[in-house]
Amino acid sequence: MALPQHNPIDFGWFNKGVALDHISTIQFFCECCGKETIQEQFKLVVGQVLGFGTPFFVQPFMKRQSTKGKIGGTRGLITQCTVCDSLWPFDHTGREVLAAAGISVDGLISETHIADYEKRKAEESSTTTTEQNSKSKARKLD
Ligand SMILES: [Zn+2]
Repeated sequence: MALPQHNPIDFGWFNKGVALDHISTIQFFCECCGKETIQEQFKLVVGQVLGFGTPFFVQPFMKRQSTKGKIGGTRGLITQCTVCDSLWPFDHTGREVLAAAGISVDGLISETHIADYEKRKAEESSTTTTEQNSKSKARKLD
């Protein structure tokens, strides 16, 4: 299946040849954009012991190695924002697979957007107090 326009391989998050399947296009919260965006959801598989292109018949000879539970690799769901190209774990499986890939489990923020992200974070922390005040007022209406 062809990968969508926004995908971690073309963007350069992953090397070509990584086991990546496009699952669907979803609405998902992007921390970098600070809102829900259209994101591409992928299933990523890492840590395949046999690698790619290894003939299947090699498998029996490798059984004595401590590959128990490792064949097939770790798989998990990740998403890529179509707005800023940041990469996020979709759920706990995504965090596991990103950890297995040696990538930050909290996701990867696109270099071209990291300045926006940091600016927004700074703005958020300076407006937190006022937001909390308005929230406590709203709660009394319940
Ligand atoms: Zn985004």
